[in-house]
Amino acid sequence: MRIDEILKKKRTLSFEVFPPKKEGSEKEALYGTLDRLKKLNPDFISVTYGAGGTNVGYAVEFAGYIKSVGIEPLAHVTGGPSSPEDVENVTSKLADLGVENILALRGDRPVDFEREYCRYFPHATDLIAEISKSGRNFCIGAACYPEGHPECDNLRQDIVSLKMKQDAGAKFLISQIFYDNSYYYRLLHEARAFGVTVPIIPGIMPLVNVKNIAKIRSMCGSTVPLDFRNMIETYADKPAVMREAGISYAVYQVIDLIAKGAPGIHFCIMNRADVAEEIFARLGSVIGELF
Ligand code: FAD
Repeated sequence: MRIDEILKKKRTLSFEVFPPKKEGSEKEALYGTLDRLKKLNPDFISVTYGAGGTNVGYAVEFAGYIKSVGIEPLAHVTGGPSSPEDVENVTSKLADLGVENILALRGDRPVDFEREYCRYFPHATDLIAEISKSGRNFCIGAACYPEGHPECDNLRQDIVSLKMKQDAGAKFLISQIFYDNSYYYRLLHEARAFGVTVPIIPGIMPLVNVKNIAKIRSMCGSTVPLDFRNMIETYADKPAVMREAGISYAVYQVIDLIAKGAPGIHFCIMNRADVAEEIFARLGSVIGELF
């Protein structure tokens, strides 16, 4: 089912997973993760796509697997490394597998990428237009950035890009992860004022491991508020307490977002089914009554 159709009926709960790089234990582990996630009854599961186009085969395979076990897949596709033929190739395979939803992204040039990056699709808007013209009737989503995309001088410029994504055919947006909900509310306010009407689903990544904090800053620039940073620093040498704090913080973010009307929650769980299960257990009545 198309995600825009699901969003018309209900609030969505979804997960993001990344595909394996090679055959073997990593791949087996992802099958296990997906079996556990299925029991949580998500509305969809998204599968990321290598910025250099390296693990495309597995990304497509797992999107197909998710569909085959009765969950709606959302296949990420990045335009940066791709030619129009690559896009045609991947979208026709996805369509053959029954995948109806694509998250169209630009991607960031990997350091070891040798060819010209973004030659054919300089921006997500170009990829959205390309996929739309294939006539395959995909429901296309795109990314947004509560703290502004790192390449943008100001949020206003980024909001203009969101309107362009919507005008090109994006039917929903999923946000970059954030740890301070006020950034999401500001983006929502500015986007609505500028005519962006599509649902904007917040992205939440439970921070359960102290090593991830530096990674989060360098990968996506998300601000970690002082209170939460204090907890992380205090519990750095107590992994069980850190995990508890990270899950509690994510639960708090979700309850606040739902109270203020978020259309869904997209959990980036780094393939950790245990984290998803614990969050869902803690959110029992919230999920039961509000989704
Ligand atoms: P764009 O929309 O092209 O935006 C990039 C910059 O260009 C922004 O500053 C924007 O304001 C500006 N811009 C946008 N359109 C135009 C235009 N038409 N003209 C001029 N300027 C414009 N990366 C991966 O490699 N694989 C993934 O699976 C993946 N999944 C992601 C999922 C989510 C929910 C998010 C938030 C990000 C994901 N990314 C992924 C990262 C993403 O590729 C990077 O953030 C990248 O830097 C920007 O991608 P974009 O699609 O937002 O690009």
